[in-house]
Amino acid sequence: MAQYQNSFGQFQLKRIPDTDKNLQAWNSADSYLLKELFEQMDSEALHKAGILILNDDFGALTVSLARFSCDSLSDSYVSQQAAVNNIQSSCPQFIKQVNFLNSTETLNKSYDLVLFKIPKSLAFLQYQMRNLLPYIHENTKIIGAIMAKNLHHSVIEILDNYFSSVQVSLAWKKARLIHLVPSVPATAAINSDIRPDISEFLLDDGSRIFGLSNVFSRNRLDIGARFFLQHFPEPSEIAAQSIIDLGCGNGILSLKAAQYFPDAQITAVDESYMAVESARMTLADNVDKLSRFEFICANSLQQFESEQADLIICNPPFHQNHTVGDAVAWEMFKQSKRVLKDRGELWIVGNRHLAYHLKLKKLFGNQFLVATNNKFVILKAINN
Ligand code: SAM
Repeated sequence: MAQYQNSFGQFQLKRIPDTDKNLQAWNSADSYLLKELFEQMDSEALHKAGILILNDDFGALTVSLARFSCDSLSDSYVSQQAAVNNIQSSCPQFIKQVNFLNSTETLNKSYDLVLFKIPKSLAFLQYQMRNLLPYIHENTKIIGAIMAKNLHHSVIEILDNYFSSVQVSLAWKKARLIHLVPSVPATAAINSDIRPDISEFLLDDGSRIFGLSNVFSRNRLDIGARFFLQHFPEPSEIAAQSIIDLGCGNGILSLKAAQYFPDAQITAVDESYMAVESARMTLADNVDKLSRFEFICANSLQQFESEQADLIICNPPFHQNHTVGDAVAWEMFKQSKRVLKDRGELWIVGNRHLAYHLKLKKLFGNQFLVATNNKFVILKAINN
């Protein structure tokens, strides 16, 4: 747990997962945003304002502003869990003053102050900005924050579509702020425009795959997933009654599991609310009986009971927000080992260079190469 000092005080913050001690739970984009806010608004004004925070990474913004009451909206279960934990350790008396909203919910009140971290997905940024308009008024103060290296012209182009002025600040500690001025007249007319942003694509067999705006590879089949589908575990290799698709994204692997194992219980898990909803849509469109599926938003398999699954299939993430790394994959493998039954199998696809075989060998004491091409490997490990 590290001390985070900013304009609003000192807080205890921890990432999820917090295995890499070189990574902090905040960055200077958070600090710049809080510094700017502290200079622009006094405590009385902040207490009176309706505050909305979007896309807080691990709670740096939400924890700092909890005392003023705020809504904090994110697509990430992990981010929200980190924010809750960090409020509990820094200022538990304010926990009830934060209202956590997930990205598939519709806002339902007007805000005077909107603070947002620019998300990695431009489609998600566009979706959020478009759907924010009915919930702001002409005097709403809106400030975005981003590390300068991640600020591309396409971000500004999107914001230009929705606001009358988009002003990028000077850089401070390698971060930038973006000040947005709402268009006048007020935006009630846009109310009718609130709608989910759902894309879809077809597989060769005609199955339709759905993806909401923040979902991994939502417009096309991921090439890792494509390779996995070609070398998927078959009923002749494993008698799986209980299958988990860990990091389900648009539900593509769950769908394949449903086709290969027509009697199995299948659980699709993701930490992205939009991914879980997309997987549900994909399965609902392509299978007859949804009752044998469960769709769960969770951090890896943390809430799952031990020794319950015959087969876990996983195309692990290789970044968390803007940070590339294998900490989440490692956590997924550890949780899989705990949740698999004796002789249960974990099957994964990964980039060759990530050397996942070393991790599997270390955890399971075995690992088998199922298939490889010039970019990916498919590995399996058996729990015993
Ligand atoms: N299974 C899909 C596919 O093959 O196209 C998506 C794979 S994508 C590489 C990895 C997925 O893991 C993303 O949907 C991401 O949201 C999810 N994820 C990341 N961190 C997670 C966590 N801690 N717990 C559960 N899912 C997570």
